[in-house]
Amino acid sequence: MPTRPKPTLNLRTLILLIALLSAVTTLANSFWVIYKVQKQELISNALDNNKDYASRIAAGIEQVLSSDIEKLKYSAGVIGRDFDNQGRLDDEALRLLKQDSSFNSILVANTTGTVVTSAPESLNISGQALRDKEPLQSRVPKISNSFKSIAGNLVIFISYPVFGARGEYLGLIGGTVRLDQENALNTLVDQHVRHDGAHVYLVDRTRRVLYHPQPDNIGAIIGDDAIVDAVLQRKNGTLQAHDASGIEMLAGFETVSSSGWGVVSQQPLNSTLAMLNKLMNKVGLGIAPVGLLGLVLIWWSGTKIASPLSMLAKYAKRLDAPESYKRISAVSAFFNEAWQIRRALLFSVGLLQEKIGRLNRQAQSDALTGLANRRAMQDALTLWEETGQSFAVVSLDIDHFKRVNDSFGHGVGDDTLRVVADLMKQNSRENDLPCRVGGEEFVLLLPNSSLRTAAEVAERLRASIERTTIETVGHITVSFGVALWTPEKASVAAVFEKADKLLYQAKQQGRNRVVVEEMNLPERT
Ligand code: GH3
Ligand code: MG
Ligand code: MG
Repeated sequence: MPTRPKPTLNLRTLILLIALLSAVTTLANSFWVIYKVQKQELISNALDNNKDYASRIAAGIEQVLSSDIEKLKYSAGVIGRDFDNQGRLDDEALRLLKQDSSFNSILVANTTGTVVTSAPESLNISGQALRDKEPLQSRVPKISNSFKSIAGNLVIFISYPVFGARGEYLGLIGGTVRLDQENALNTLVDQHVRHDGAHVYLVDRTRRVLYHPQPDNIGAIIGDDAIVDAVLQRKNGTLQAHDASGIEMLAGFETVSSSGWGVVSQQPLNSTLAMLNKLMNKVGLGIAPVGLLGLVLIWWSGTKIASPLSMLAKYAKRLDAPESYKRISAVSAFFNEAWQIRRALLFSVGLLQEKIGRLNRQAQSDALTGLANRRAMQDALTLWEETGQSFAVVSLDIDHFKRVNDSFGHGVGDDTLRVVADLMKQNSRENDLPCRVGGEEFVLLLPNSSLRTAAEVAERLRASIERTTIETVGHITVSFGVALWTPEKASVAAVFEKADKLLYQAKQQGRNRVVVEEMNLPERT
C-alpha cells in the first residue's frame, strides 16, 4: 500500500485559516450588502430629490407665465375696447412694457398679422408682418417656442388674442422675453452647478436649451439625450441615463404644462457615489480596530484550541519515554476531544510502560533466584560511580557447594541457591542490592554504608545461613570478603578484586567466615 506523505499543515494553521476565511467572507459580505443598500438608497433619494426640485421650479415657471398671460389679458381688454385709437394702443404697449421687467418688448398686431404698434419705440417694427401666424389662427393665448429675434437674441413670444366689445376678433397683443437676460423666469432656476455636479436646465419642445447654468449652452439644441426624450414625452418622472455628453445622470423632470417646456434637475451618478465611497471608507476605518481585535482573538483562540492537541501529538511520538505519563497528564485538555485523546494516550502509556517494565525486570534479574543479575549490578555501579555514591561490596561463595550437587543432585543445588538468595534479601535494607553474579557466587552491594556496617551485615548473614536448615541438604556455610568503594578510591574494579581476594582468604582460613579489608580510611556511617 503506498504510504501517504506526512501533511505539513498543522491544526493551528488550519483553524486560523478557516476562522480568517469566515471572518473575511462575513466582513466582505456585510460591506457588499451595506454598499448595495446604501447605493440604492442614495440613487433613489437623488432621483426623488431631483424630481421634487424640478416640480417646484416648473410650478414657479408656470406661475410666472400665467402672470405674464394675465398681464397681456388685461391689456387685450383695454385695447379691445378702443382698437382704432392708435394713441391708446401706443400708450398701452408702453405701459405694459414699463409695468415691470416681465417683457423685453411689446407688440400689437391686427388680424392680418401686421404690427400696428410696438414698444420700446426703438424697436420700430410697426407695419411689419408677424413671422408666426399660428397665434392669429388659433385665437387663444400662446407661448411660442424659442427663436432668434431680429436683433439676434434668443426670445420667446407670449401672446393673447384681442376681441372687440361685441366679441369680434381684432388681432393679438404679445410680449417677448429674452432668455439670455436676467428676468423673472430664469431667476427661478438655480443658476449654479453644485459641488456634486447637480444642476437644473430648461428645454422647450424643439429641444432648445432655454436656461442652463453654463451660459454657452443656452440656445443650443440637445441632440441624443434620453432624459430630454423623457421630459418631452411624459409629464414628470425620474430617469437614470446617460446625457448627451455621455455622463450617467440621475435626473428628475417635470413639464411646464402651459408652455410644454421641460425642467430637468440632474446630477452625475459618479459624484453621488463618491459620497458613498467616502462613507464606506469611514465605515472601513471604523470597523478596522474591532476587526483587528477579532483577528487577534481568533489567533489566540486558535492557538488555545490547537495547543493541547499539538502537545498530545508531540508526546505521542515518544510514549516509551519514562516521563511520558507525567507530561501527558499535565496537558490541559479543556475540551472533550482533547480529553478523550489524552485519556487514550495515558492508557497506552500505561500499557506500554508496564510491558517495558516487565521486559526490563526480566533483563535485569536472575531467572533462578530473582536477584539482580550482573547487568543490573553493573548499571547500579555505573550510577553510583558517576554520582560519587560510596558503597560496600560483600562477595559471597558457598563452601563446598560441589558436594551439595554431587550428593543431592543439581535440582537440590538450585534450591539451595534460592535459599541463600532469600536469606540475602531478608538480611539487607531496602536500598541494598543483592546480586547473583555467577553459579554459586553472590555479591551484596550496600550503598552509603561504612565498612563496619557492611562487616556486620555480612556477619549477620553468615550466621543466618549457618543456622538455617535446608531441606534435604541440612546446613551449609558461606565465606565472605568485604571491601569499600569511596569516590577517592582508584577504581570500582580494584575494589571488586579486593573483595574477591578477601573471600579467597576466608576460604583459606577455613571457610564460614567474614574477612574485611583493613579499615585504614576514616569511618563513615
Ligand atoms: P569452595 O568451598 O572452594 O568454594 O568449594 P566449592 O565446591 O564450592 O567449589 P567451587 O566454588 O569452585 O564450586 C562451584 C560449583 O558450583 C561447581 C558447580 O557444580 C556448582 N554450580 C555452579 N553453578 C551452579 C548452578 O547454577 N546450580 C547448581 N546446582 N550448581 C552450580
Ligand atoms: Mg565458587
Ligand atoms: Mg564455592
